[in-house]
Amino acid sequence: MNNIILFGPPGSGKGTQAEKLAEHFGLLHISTGDMFRYELKNETPLGITAKGYMDEGKLVPDEVTIAMLRERVKNAGEVNGIIFDGFPRTEAQAEALDEMLEEADSPVKGLLLLDVADDEIVKRILLRGKTSGRADDLDESIIRNRIAVFNEQTAPVYNYYHEKGKAHKVDGIGSIDDIFGRLQTLVERF
Ligand code: ADP
Repeated sequence: MNNIILFGPPGSGKGTQAEKLAEHFGLLHISTGDMFRYELKNETPLGITAKGYMDEGKLVPDEVTIAMLRERVKNAGEVNGIIFDGFPRTEAQAEALDEMLEEADSPVKGLLLLDVADDEIVKRILLRGKTSGRADDLDESIIRNRIAVFNEQTAPVYNYYHEKGKAHKVDGIGSIDDIFGRLQTLVERF
């Protein structure tokens, strides 16, 4: 199985590229952000719990996120592989994911970091906010908070996989197709 993590700060293009990679390589796309937004739309207890954190640009607590992801992976059925978008976002999540995938005998093949500078990210998210309908995309201070959370809590996940020789950095600036081409070349080598 080809399990891949698409990694990067908020607004780096993970969602767009994950969708394209999933289609091209026949992978299942799992986005924890989309899962939380779906729960929120349906006003489930999980969605209501997540909302408070998402609106402030904070991470939903690990135990909640890991339990949700575990259930999703368990019910994935027969797939060629999974592309994880927005997960793992903490070292504890990375450890939980590795454990899950090792049990299934299909470890992570690689992590791909979409590298984009902070100022560019803020610009992109504010632009997205005009049409995305996402409360967390509208306010610059919340966006800056999400970037700070990324730098403090999420960036260590890159080092975690780097130490295993599985982390790859990709320039996240350019056209959607150019960036996709860079990612595709790396995935083909896995
Ligand atoms: P972005 O990458 O633009 O921040 P996402 O859709 O990936 O957007 O995530 C939106 C929000 O959902 C995050 O700010 C966070 O509150 C929550 N979230 C998503 N994935 C996780 C995760 N793995 N752990 C904790 N919280 C998460």
